[in-house]
Amino acid sequence: MSRFFSDKYKDLVPYVPGEQPRGQKYIKLNTNENPYPPPPEVTEAVRKESEKLCLYSDTECTELRKALAGRLNVSEDELLMTNGSDEILNFAFMAFCDKHTPAYFADVTYGFYPVFADINQVPYEEIPLKDDLTIDITDYFQKAGTIFIANPNAPTAIALRRNEIEEILKQNLYNVVVVDEAYVDFGAESCVPLIREYDNLLVTQTFSKSRSMAGARLGMGIGNPELIRDLNTIKFSLNPYNVNSMTAAAGTATLKHDEYNMKNCELIMETRSWSERALRELGFEMTTSQTNFLFARHPAISGLDLYLELKRKGFLIRHFNRERIRDYNRITIGTPEQMEKLVAATKQILADRKA
Ligand code: PMP
Repeated sequence: MSRFFSDKYKDLVPYVPGEQPRGQKYIKLNTNENPYPPPPEVTEAVRKESEKLCLYSDTECTELRKALAGRLNVSEDELLMTNGSDEILNFAFMAFCDKHTPAYFADVTYGFYPVFADINQVPYEEIPLKDDLTIDITDYFQKAGTIFIANPNAPTAIALRRNEIEEILKQNLYNVVVVDEAYVDFGAESCVPLIREYDNLLVTQTFSKSRSMAGARLGMGIGNPELIRDLNTIKFSLNPYNVNSMTAAAGTATLKHDEYNMKNCELIMETRSWSERALRELGFEMTTSQTNFLFARHPAISGLDLYLELKRKGFLIRHFNRERIRDYNRITIGTPEQMEKLVAATKQILADRKA
Protein backbone atom coordinates (compact mmCIF):
# COMPACT_ATOMS: atom_id res chain seq x y z
CA MET A 1 0.00 0.00 0.00
CA SER A 2 1.44 3.40 -0.86
CA ARG A 3 1.42 6.16 1.72
CA PHE A 4 -1.07 7.97 -0.50
CA PHE A 5 -3.85 5.36 -0.43
CA SER A 6 -7.04 6.84 0.95
CA ASP A 7 -7.85 5.98 4.55
CA LYS A 8 -11.30 4.97 3.54
CA TYR A 9 -9.97 2.00 1.55
CA LYS A 10 -7.17 0.88 3.86
CA ASP A 11 -9.07 -2.16 5.14
CA LEU A 12 -10.63 -3.09 1.81
CA VAL A 13 -10.14 -6.76 0.93
CA PRO A 14 -10.70 -7.10 -2.83
CA TYR A 15 -12.63 -9.92 -4.48
CA VAL A 16 -10.41 -12.76 -5.70
CA PRO A 17 -11.50 -13.98 -9.17
CA GLY A 18 -10.84 -17.58 -10.25
CA GLU A 19 -7.49 -18.19 -11.91
CA GLN A 20 -7.26 -17.27 -15.62
CA PRO A 21 -4.06 -19.06 -16.62
CA ARG A 22 -2.24 -17.81 -19.68
CA GLY A 23 0.11 -20.26 -21.30
CA GLN A 24 -0.28 -23.57 -19.49
CA LYS A 25 -3.17 -25.57 -20.90
CA TYR A 26 -5.73 -26.61 -18.32
CA ILE A 27 -9.19 -28.05 -18.65
CA LYS A 28 -10.74 -24.98 -17.12
CA LEU A 29 -13.75 -25.68 -14.91
CA ASN A 30 -13.20 -22.97 -12.32
CA THR A 31 -15.04 -19.78 -13.32
CA ASN A 32 -18.40 -21.00 -14.61
CA GLU A 33 -17.68 -20.00 -18.18
CA ASN A 34 -19.72 -21.53 -20.97
CA PRO A 35 -17.64 -24.14 -22.85
CA TYR A 36 -19.29 -23.28 -26.17
CA PRO A 37 -18.58 -20.17 -28.28
CA PRO A 38 -21.34 -17.66 -29.03
CA PRO A 39 -23.14 -17.94 -32.40
CA PRO A 40 -20.75 -17.15 -35.31
CA GLU A 41 -22.78 -14.03 -36.24
CA VAL A 42 -21.47 -12.42 -33.04
CA THR A 43 -17.89 -12.44 -34.33
CA GLU A 44 -18.95 -10.72 -37.54
CA ALA A 45 -21.01 -8.12 -35.64
CA VAL A 46 -17.99 -7.28 -33.45
CA ARG A 47 -15.70 -7.01 -36.46
CA LYS A 48 -18.11 -4.68 -38.22
CA GLU A 49 -18.57 -2.53 -35.13
CA SER A 50 -14.81 -2.28 -34.68
CA GLU A 51 -14.67 -0.15 -37.85
CA LYS A 52 -16.39 2.60 -35.86
CA LEU A 53 -14.08 2.57 -32.86
CA CYS A 54 -13.34 6.28 -33.28
CA LEU A 55 -16.84 7.03 -31.99
CA TYR A 56 -18.03 6.83 -28.40
CA SER A 57 -20.49 4.06 -27.65
CA ASP A 58 -24.26 4.67 -27.41
CA THR A 59 -24.90 5.54 -23.75
CA GLU A 60 -28.46 4.23 -24.02
CA CYS A 61 -27.57 0.92 -25.75
CA THR A 62 -30.67 1.64 -27.82
CA GLU A 63 -30.63 -1.34 -30.19
CA LEU A 64 -29.53 -3.78 -27.56
CA ARG A 65 -32.22 -2.69 -25.12
CA LYS A 66 -34.82 -2.95 -27.85
CA ALA A 67 -33.77 -6.50 -28.70
CA LEU A 68 -33.62 -7.49 -25.06
CA ALA A 69 -36.98 -5.95 -24.22
CA GLY A 70 -38.52 -8.11 -26.93
CA ARG A 71 -36.73 -11.20 -25.68
CA LEU A 72 -37.67 -10.70 -22.00
CA ASN A 73 -41.12 -9.31 -22.64
CA VAL A 74 -40.48 -6.06 -20.74
CA SER A 75 -40.27 -2.48 -21.95
CA GLU A 76 -37.09 -0.60 -22.72
CA ASP A 77 -37.41 1.73 -19.74
CA GLU A 78 -37.38 -1.33 -17.49
CA LEU A 79 -33.83 -2.17 -18.59
CA LEU A 80 -30.34 -0.88 -17.90
CA MET A 81 -27.21 -2.37 -19.50
CA THR A 82 -23.93 -2.61 -17.60
CA ASN A 83 -20.34 -3.76 -17.83
CA GLY A 84 -21.02 -7.30 -16.62
CA SER A 85 -23.62 -7.91 -13.95
CA ASP A 86 -20.97 -7.11 -11.33
CA GLU A 87 -21.43 -3.48 -12.32
CA ILE A 88 -25.21 -3.45 -11.89
CA LEU A 89 -24.77 -5.13 -8.50
CA ASN A 90 -22.35 -2.42 -7.44
CA PHE A 91 -24.77 0.23 -8.73
CA ALA A 92 -27.48 -1.34 -6.57
CA PHE A 93 -25.27 -1.14 -3.47
CA MET A 94 -24.57 2.52 -4.32
CA ALA A 95 -28.17 3.43 -5.12
CA PHE A 96 -30.15 1.49 -2.52
CA CYS A 97 -27.87 1.14 0.55
CA ASP A 98 -26.29 3.54 3.00
CA LYS A 99 -25.37 3.61 6.65
CA HIS A 100 -29.04 3.65 7.64
CA THR A 101 -30.03 1.12 5.00
CA PRO A 102 -27.79 -1.91 5.44
CA ALA A 103 -27.43 -4.82 3.05
CA TYR A 104 -28.59 -8.34 3.86
CA PHE A 105 -27.32 -11.45 2.13
CA ALA A 106 -26.53 -15.10 2.87
CA ASP A 107 -23.35 -16.10 4.72
CA VAL A 108 -22.53 -18.42 1.81
CA THR A 109 -23.17 -16.58 -1.44
CA TYR A 110 -21.44 -14.59 -4.16
CA GLY A 111 -18.18 -13.31 -2.68
CA PHE A 112 -18.48 -9.92 -4.32
CA TYR A 113 -21.41 -8.78 -2.14
CA PRO A 114 -19.34 -8.03 0.99
CA VAL A 115 -16.72 -6.31 -1.18
CA PHE A 116 -19.32 -4.04 -2.80
CA ALA A 117 -20.71 -3.30 0.66
CA ASP A 118 -17.25 -2.43 1.99
CA ILE A 119 -16.14 -0.23 -0.90
CA ASN A 120 -19.39 1.73 -0.57
CA GLN A 121 -19.13 1.83 3.23
CA VAL A 122 -22.40 0.02 3.60
CA PRO A 123 -22.96 -2.03 6.77
CA TYR A 124 -24.18 -5.56 6.12
CA GLU A 125 -25.55 -8.62 7.84
CA GLU A 126 -24.83 -12.13 6.63
CA ILE A 127 -27.79 -14.44 7.13
CA PRO A 128 -26.73 -18.06 7.72
CA LEU A 129 -27.96 -20.68 5.31
CA LYS A 130 -29.52 -23.76 6.88
CA ASP A 131 -27.27 -26.78 7.54
CA ASP A 132 -28.19 -28.25 4.16
CA LEU A 133 -27.08 -24.95 2.53
CA THR A 134 -30.62 -23.94 1.56
CA ILE A 135 -32.21 -20.58 2.32
CA ASP A 136 -34.95 -20.25 4.93
CA ILE A 137 -37.05 -17.52 3.31
CA THR A 138 -38.53 -16.45 6.67
CA ASP A 139 -35.03 -15.23 7.65
CA TYR A 140 -35.51 -12.54 4.99
CA PHE A 141 -38.90 -11.24 6.14
CA GLN A 142 -39.29 -7.65 7.37
CA LYS A 143 -35.67 -6.58 7.10
CA ALA A 144 -34.55 -3.00 7.62
CA GLY A 145 -32.50 -2.59 4.45
CA THR A 146 -31.73 -3.92 1.00
CA ILE A 147 -31.74 -7.66 0.35
CA PHE A 148 -29.42 -9.38 -2.12
CA ILE A 149 -30.28 -12.94 -3.13
CA ALA A 150 -28.37 -14.88 -5.75
CA ASN A 151 -30.97 -17.16 -7.31
CA PRO A 152 -29.76 -19.79 -8.02
CA ASN A 153 -27.25 -19.21 -5.26
CA ALA A 154 -23.52 -19.48 -5.86
CA PRO A 155 -21.49 -21.44 -4.98
CA THR A 156 -24.20 -23.72 -3.55
CA ALA A 157 -26.03 -24.08 -6.94
CA ILE A 158 -29.41 -24.26 -5.17
CA ALA A 159 -32.42 -22.26 -6.42
CA LEU A 160 -35.51 -20.93 -4.70
CA ARG A 161 -38.85 -21.10 -6.50
CA ARG A 162 -40.35 -17.88 -7.87
CA ASN A 163 -43.21 -18.03 -5.37
CA GLU A 164 -40.69 -18.19 -2.51
CA ILE A 165 -38.96 -15.04 -3.73
CA GLU A 166 -42.40 -13.49 -4.07
CA GLU A 167 -43.01 -14.16 -0.36
CA ILE A 168 -39.79 -12.29 0.43
CA LEU A 169 -40.93 -9.40 -1.79
CA LYS A 170 -44.31 -9.21 -0.07
CA GLN A 171 -42.64 -9.15 3.33
CA ASN A 172 -40.34 -6.27 2.30
CA LEU A 173 -42.53 -3.77 0.48
CA TYR A 174 -40.44 -0.91 1.90
CA ASN A 175 -37.12 -2.46 0.90
CA VAL A 176 -35.44 -3.12 -2.40
CA VAL A 177 -34.91 -6.82 -3.06
CA VAL A 178 -32.16 -7.55 -5.60
CA VAL A 179 -32.40 -10.98 -7.22
CA ASP A 180 -29.12 -11.90 -8.92
CA GLU A 181 -30.05 -14.31 -11.71
CA ALA A 182 -26.59 -14.89 -13.18
CA TYR A 183 -27.34 -18.63 -13.53
CA VAL A 184 -31.10 -18.58 -14.06
CA ASP A 185 -31.04 -20.00 -17.60
CA PHE A 186 -29.82 -23.39 -16.40
CA GLY A 187 -33.16 -24.56 -15.07
CA ALA A 188 -34.39 -22.09 -12.43
CA GLU A 189 -37.44 -19.80 -12.47
CA SER A 190 -36.83 -16.15 -13.30
CA CYS A 191 -38.46 -13.35 -11.30
CA VAL A 192 -38.58 -11.03 -14.32
CA PRO A 193 -42.37 -11.62 -14.68
CA LEU A 194 -42.80 -10.08 -11.20
CA ILE A 195 -41.28 -6.66 -11.91
CA ARG A 196 -44.61 -4.99 -12.80
CA GLU A 197 -46.26 -6.24 -9.62
CA TYR A 198 -43.39 -5.37 -7.25
CA ASP A 199 -41.77 -1.96 -7.61
CA ASN A 200 -39.23 -3.03 -4.97
CA LEU A 201 -37.77 -5.79 -7.18
CA LEU A 202 -34.54 -5.45 -9.15
CA VAL A 203 -33.49 -8.49 -11.17
CA THR A 204 -29.92 -8.70 -12.46
CA GLN A 205 -28.78 -10.99 -15.26
CA THR A 206 -25.69 -11.49 -17.37
CA PHE A 207 -24.56 -12.51 -20.84
CA SER A 208 -21.50 -14.19 -19.28
CA LYS A 209 -22.92 -17.65 -18.62
CA SER A 210 -25.89 -18.76 -20.73
CA ARG A 211 -24.85 -16.56 -23.67
CA SER A 212 -21.12 -17.42 -23.70
CA MET A 213 -19.94 -13.81 -23.48
CA ALA A 214 -17.96 -13.65 -20.21
CA GLY A 215 -15.08 -11.83 -21.90
CA ALA A 216 -17.34 -9.18 -23.45
CA ARG A 217 -18.61 -8.01 -20.03
CA LEU A 218 -22.33 -7.46 -20.49
CA GLY A 219 -24.93 -7.46 -17.73
CA MET A 220 -28.28 -5.87 -17.04
CA GLY A 221 -30.74 -4.69 -14.48
CA ILE A 222 -34.47 -5.31 -14.96
CA GLY A 223 -37.02 -3.52 -12.82
CA ASN A 224 -39.54 -0.78 -12.37
CA PRO A 225 -38.70 2.36 -14.45
CA GLU A 226 -38.16 4.41 -11.29
CA LEU A 227 -35.59 1.98 -9.93
CA ILE A 228 -33.94 1.98 -13.35
CA ARG A 229 -33.86 5.78 -13.32
CA ASP A 230 -32.04 5.75 -9.96
CA LEU A 231 -29.51 3.28 -11.32
CA ASN A 232 -29.05 5.48 -14.40
CA THR A 233 -28.27 8.40 -12.10
CA ILE A 234 -25.41 6.34 -10.72
CA LYS A 235 -24.30 5.16 -14.16
CA PHE A 236 -24.26 8.67 -15.64
CA SER A 237 -22.32 9.90 -12.61
CA LEU A 238 -19.59 7.30 -13.09
CA ASN A 239 -19.25 6.28 -16.72
CA PRO A 240 -22.01 6.90 -19.26
CA TYR A 241 -20.06 4.74 -21.73
CA ASN A 242 -19.95 1.74 -19.41
CA VAL A 243 -20.88 -0.69 -22.21
CA ASN A 244 -18.44 -0.49 -25.10
CA SER A 245 -19.76 -0.45 -28.65
CA MET A 246 -18.41 -3.88 -29.65
CA THR A 247 -19.95 -5.53 -26.62
CA ALA A 248 -23.30 -3.88 -27.33
CA ALA A 249 -23.12 -5.09 -30.95
CA ALA A 250 -22.25 -8.61 -29.75
CA GLY A 251 -25.22 -8.56 -27.37
CA THR A 252 -27.65 -7.43 -30.08
CA ALA A 253 -26.32 -10.05 -32.50
CA THR A 254 -26.51 -12.92 -30.04
CA LEU A 255 -30.13 -12.11 -29.14
CA LYS A 256 -31.04 -12.62 -32.79
CA HIS A 257 -29.82 -16.21 -32.42
CA ASP A 258 -30.85 -16.82 -28.86
CA GLU A 259 -32.31 -20.26 -29.59
CA TYR A 260 -28.69 -21.31 -30.30
CA ASN A 261 -27.68 -20.10 -26.81
CA MET A 262 -30.66 -21.75 -25.15
CA LYS A 263 -29.82 -25.05 -26.89
CA ASN A 264 -26.32 -24.82 -25.45
CA CYS A 265 -27.88 -24.36 -22.00
CA GLU A 266 -29.89 -27.54 -22.51
CA LEU A 267 -26.78 -29.38 -23.58
CA ILE A 268 -24.99 -28.13 -20.46
CA MET A 269 -27.92 -29.30 -18.31
CA GLU A 270 -27.70 -32.77 -19.89
CA THR A 271 -23.96 -32.86 -19.26
CA ARG A 272 -24.68 -31.74 -15.70
CA SER A 273 -27.00 -34.73 -15.13
CA TRP A 274 -24.38 -37.11 -16.52
CA SER A 275 -21.61 -35.57 -14.39
CA GLU A 276 -23.74 -35.63 -11.27
CA ARG A 277 -24.48 -39.32 -11.70
CA ALA A 278 -20.85 -40.18 -12.48
CA LEU A 279 -19.54 -38.28 -9.46
CA ARG A 280 -22.16 -39.78 -7.15
CA GLU A 281 -21.03 -43.22 -8.30
CA LEU A 282 -17.54 -42.27 -7.10
CA GLY A 283 -18.98 -41.43 -3.68
CA PHE A 284 -19.43 -37.65 -4.01
CA GLU A 285 -22.25 -35.83 -2.26
CA MET A 286 -23.61 -32.70 -3.86
CA THR A 287 -26.39 -30.16 -3.74
CA THR A 288 -29.15 -30.13 -6.37
CA SER A 289 -27.80 -27.83 -9.05
CA GLN A 290 -29.86 -25.52 -11.21
CA THR A 291 -26.73 -23.83 -12.52
CA ASN A 292 -23.84 -24.60 -14.86
CA PHE A 293 -21.76 -25.96 -11.98
CA LEU A 294 -21.80 -28.62 -9.28
CA PHE A 295 -21.00 -28.09 -5.62
CA ALA A 296 -19.56 -31.39 -4.43
CA ARG A 297 -17.65 -33.01 -1.58
CA HIS A 298 -16.22 -36.45 -0.96
CA PRO A 299 -15.88 -38.14 2.45
CA ALA A 300 -12.42 -39.54 1.62
CA ILE A 301 -10.60 -36.40 0.41
CA SER A 302 -10.56 -32.80 1.57
CA GLY A 303 -11.77 -30.09 -0.77
CA LEU A 304 -8.30 -28.55 -0.91
CA ASP A 305 -6.53 -31.85 -1.65
CA LEU A 306 -8.90 -32.69 -4.47
CA TYR A 307 -8.44 -29.21 -5.93
CA LEU A 308 -4.63 -29.50 -5.75
CA GLU A 309 -4.48 -33.03 -7.12
CA LEU A 310 -6.76 -32.20 -10.02
CA LYS A 311 -4.64 -29.13 -10.75
CA ARG A 312 -1.58 -31.34 -10.91
CA LYS A 313 -3.41 -33.45 -13.49
CA GLY A 314 -4.31 -30.41 -15.58
CA PHE A 315 -7.81 -29.52 -14.32
CA LEU A 316 -8.81 -26.26 -12.69
CA ILE A 317 -11.83 -26.32 -10.37
CA ARG A 318 -12.72 -23.77 -7.67
CA HIS A 319 -12.02 -24.30 -3.99
CA PHE A 320 -13.11 -21.73 -1.41
CA ASN A 321 -11.05 -21.80 1.74
CA ARG A 322 -13.97 -20.61 3.84
CA GLU A 323 -15.66 -21.95 6.91
CA ARG A 324 -18.73 -24.11 6.18
CA ILE A 325 -17.75 -24.85 2.56
CA ARG A 326 -14.11 -25.90 2.90
CA ASP A 327 -14.97 -29.55 2.16
CA TYR A 328 -16.56 -28.66 -1.15
CA ASN A 329 -15.40 -27.77 -4.62
CA ARG A 330 -17.29 -25.89 -7.26
CA ILE A 331 -16.97 -27.63 -10.61
CA THR A 332 -18.10 -25.85 -13.78
CA ILE A 333 -19.90 -28.03 -16.31
CA GLY A 334 -17.75 -28.22 -19.43
CA THR A 335 -18.25 -30.24 -22.60
CA PRO A 336 -19.12 -33.96 -22.28
CA GLU A 337 -15.50 -34.82 -23.23
CA GLN A 338 -14.07 -32.50 -20.58
CA MET A 339 -16.38 -33.96 -17.93
CA GLU A 340 -15.51 -37.53 -18.88
CA LYS A 341 -11.83 -36.67 -18.48
CA LEU A 342 -12.50 -34.98 -15.14
CA VAL A 343 -14.39 -37.99 -13.82
CA ALA A 344 -11.64 -40.37 -14.98
CA ALA A 345 -8.93 -38.25 -13.33
CA THR A 346 -10.95 -37.99 -10.12
CA LYS A 347 -11.49 -41.76 -10.09
CA GLN A 348 -7.73 -42.23 -10.40
CA ILE A 349 -7.04 -39.79 -7.55
CA LEU A 350 -9.46 -41.64 -5.27
CA ALA A 351 -8.01 -45.05 -6.24
CA ASP A 352 -4.43 -43.84 -5.57
CA ARG A 353 -5.49 -42.71 -2.10
CA LYS A 354 -6.87 -46.14 -1.28
CA ALA A 355 -3.79 -47.97 -2.56
N1 PMP B 1 -23.52 -13.04 -9.74
C1 PMP B 1 -23.05 -14.26 -9.46
C2 PMP B 1 -23.79 -15.10 -8.47
C3 PMP B 1 -21.89 -14.74 -10.09
O1 PMP B 1 -21.39 -15.94 -9.79
C4 PMP B 1 -21.24 -13.92 -11.03
C5 PMP B 1 -20.03 -14.43 -11.78
N2 PMP B 1 -18.84 -14.43 -11.14
C6 PMP B 1 -21.76 -12.64 -11.27
C7 PMP B 1 -22.90 -12.24 -10.63
C8 PMP B 1 -21.09 -11.65 -12.17
O2 PMP B 1 -20.93 -12.06 -13.45
P1 PMP B 1 -20.62 -11.02 -14.63
O3 PMP B 1 -20.04 -9.78 -14.01
O4 PMP B 1 -19.69 -11.75 -15.50
O5 PMP B 1 -21.95 -10.74 -15.25
